[in-house]
Amino acid sequence: MQCADCRTRLDAYLDKELSADERAEVREHLAACSDCTRELTALERASTLAQEHLVRYEAPDVLKARITNAIASERSVPAETPSAPPRRAGWWRFAAAGVIIALASGGLTYAVARGGAGSPALADQVLASHIRSLMPGHLTDVQSTNEHNVKPWFNGRVDFSPKVPVLDSAGFPLVGGRLDYLDGRVVAAVVYARRQHLINVDSWPEAGANEGPTSTEAHGYHLIRWRADNVEYWAVSDLESGELSTFVSLYSR
Ligand SMILES: [Zn+2]
Repeated sequence: MQCADCRTRLDAYLDKELSADERAEVREHLAACSDCTRELTALERASTLAQEHLVRYEAPDVLKARITNAIASERSVPAETPSAPPRRAGWWRFAAAGVIIALASGGLTYAVARGGAGSPALADQVLASHIRSLMPGHLTDVQSTNEHNVKPWFNGRVDFSPKVPVLDSAGFPLVGGRLDYLDGRVVAAVVYARRQHLINVDSWPEAGANEGPTSTEAHGYHLIRWRADNVEYWAVSDLESGELSTFVSLYSR
């Protein structure tokens, strides 16, 4: 089996929808291919996270209809060749896409714990970016638990050097980094984990006086914003707010 064949079957493999023979072929390929195994791990993680995150979100009827249509039209796409299995995607991909549609179409209300936690529109974008990052293949452009791989990766990609502190010993291992696009600019996103939770720290240059952390909450996600040394920071996660505050104080130390 080639990698491309394996990749088209990973969703079905994960959902236990392959025949016994196909399943054995995929398993055999995975045993010998670290790239496909990594892809499977990313899919498993995204699937788990999407399910955990999405149970909290009540989709409006119009959104449910859109997701149902998306799934139906995906299923009706004919296979590329008679022998190829129909390409399919797990339901959670569409559900995650639906959340992004909902965020983009507005209507989110924020409980701002303390005033001045940045503009609501920016908070929307930070949260949408966080949810988008949980979709397969979107979390990191550079995946590494080593800051010596992640920090230099940003050189020449953004016009500042984002903080990538080592926080393993405090229980916040580094996952990697990526570029993101927020409010009309490219920003650095540094990703950490806490147990099965993920934390995105978005940062970009922004001139102004230093400002201490302010918290925002939306649909079970917590966002903390601060500014230090002319860099704007947003940390976002579904982590409990106390733990996210602990993370921010360690990160910004
Ligand atoms: Zn492979």
